[in-house]
Amino acid sequence: MVDIVVIGGGAAGCIAAIKAAEAGASVTLIEKNAKIGRKIMITGKGHCNITNAKKWSDFSVHVHNKPSFFKPAFYNFSNDDTIDFFESHGVETVLTRDQRIYPKSMSAASVVDALAGAIEKAGVQVLFNCDVANVTFDEEKGCFETDYVETINLRVAAGRVQSAAVIVATGGLSYPSTGSTGAGYDIARRFGHTVQRTFPSLTALVPAGYDMRLRDITLVNTTVQLFVGQDMVACEFGDIQFTDGGLEGPVGFKISRKAVWALINGNKVSVSIDLKPAVPLQLLKERVAREAEEFGINAVNFNKKIRAFLRKFMPQALIDPYVESNALTLGNLAAKMKDWRMAIVDYVGWRRAVVTAGGVNLEEVVARSMASRNRPGLFFAGEVLDIDCDTGGYNLQFAFSTGALAAKGAVEFVNKAKES
Ligand SMILES: Cc1cc2nc3c(=O)[nH]c(=O)nc-3n(C[C@H](O)[C@H](O)[C@H](O)COP(=O)(O)OP(=O)(O)OC[C@H]3O[C@@H](n4cnc5c(N)ncnc54)[C@H](O)[C@@H]3O)c2cc1C
Repeated sequence: MVDIVVIGGGAAGCIAAIKAAEAGASVTLIEKNAKIGRKIMITGKGHCNITNAKKWSDFSVHVHNKPSFFKPAFYNFSNDDTIDFFESHGVETVLTRDQRIYPKSMSAASVVDALAGAIEKAGVQVLFNCDVANVTFDEEKGCFETDYVETINLRVAAGRVQSAAVIVATGGLSYPSTGSTGAGYDIARRFGHTVQRTFPSLTALVPAGYDMRLRDITLVNTTVQLFVGQDMVACEFGDIQFTDGGLEGPVGFKISRKAVWALINGNKVSVSIDLKPAVPLQLLKERVAREAEEFGINAVNFNKKIRAFLRKFMPQALIDPYVESNALTLGNLAAKMKDWRMAIVDYVGWRRAVVTAGGVNLEEVVARSMASRNRPGLFFAGEVLDIDCDTGGYNLQFAFSTGALAAKGAVEFVNKAKES
């Protein structure tokens, strides 16, 4: 029997295993892939934005839904601790825009290598290619039993590890190709936990009749308002990207959480894109009128000349889709540039959503230790929990912080059990 089983070798599970082993516990880490950190490898477009340097008061506004739950974990293992950890494992870091921290190498592989090195050095036993199918608590033996199926090439074998404590760090549902397929929710449910409704966040929003000619266009410094029904529920300034999925980029991602939630609850969702946020409507109207006169466009030749005229106001690639999706007249041109409405009818699902919103109910987990309130010795860490964050390094920090705190909680639990 080992002290602690950690299920999942992602960001949360790796740090949990390292910290628990460094604190003297015997630890077995079970990962269903052949390597740790498969999702980390694709983070930050392969560069891995490991954390964000903001202090808690600024950091916490990027945490949804309950930053207060994250706070003890953050203070136990903060963004500074993440930087120190990687620096002390040979990963130099750099600070970039918006306080984002990356490895200086800009290589996610260097982050994964550092974690793999630390796992080995700490003496963690790792079972690769092992898919945990079930976790139970044997009352008679007084220990957890973690059952897994090992698959190597065509050989399939079943195995079991007994432990005093278990840390569930199986991630959420996003990018299932990396291994996160929601297994932790089933484990949690087996111990009587409830799982808050899961939905994709930080994902592309699909406009009605999405015009693929918009693909690959980035609009910089735009303002986007999100409407649910008639109500404006979010307003963000920055860049949006039209991709093969739909509307994304920093601003698209920022509004995606509320938009997806509204869509899955059957609400009407739309966005309004302001292509000229720095220019008040009245000034824009005056500029359009002035330039229209100089250009010689009027109500009679409007349809013939509008595309050429719009080159003064927007990138060429935008013009055809823009003209065709707006009933433009000379009179409404300025207003439409400041309010390009698109109904949002869908979103890109798990296969490409950056994070999972929803998860193991926070009311049933102790924020100071990550311990289950239902089953002593059971702990949770990372995306499996009902917290998700904005882009900017916040999600990995959440995984690292909760992983470190779960390790501390589990080690304390194991030591107490040994004493009694
Ligand atoms: C494309 C993309 C880019 C991102 N970029 C960033 C970024 O730059 N910065 C940032 O902060 N966040 C980023 N994120 C989010 C961040 O990567 C995740 O929030 C974080 O990695 C979650 O860590 P985790 O350990 O909780 O879960 P995961 O990383 O999903 O790890 C869970 C692990 O558990 C294993 N597992 C699952 N079920 C089982 C089972 N039954 N048995 C055994 N093993 C199992 C999985 O194989 C996996 O290795 C990005 C996410 C994506 C998808």
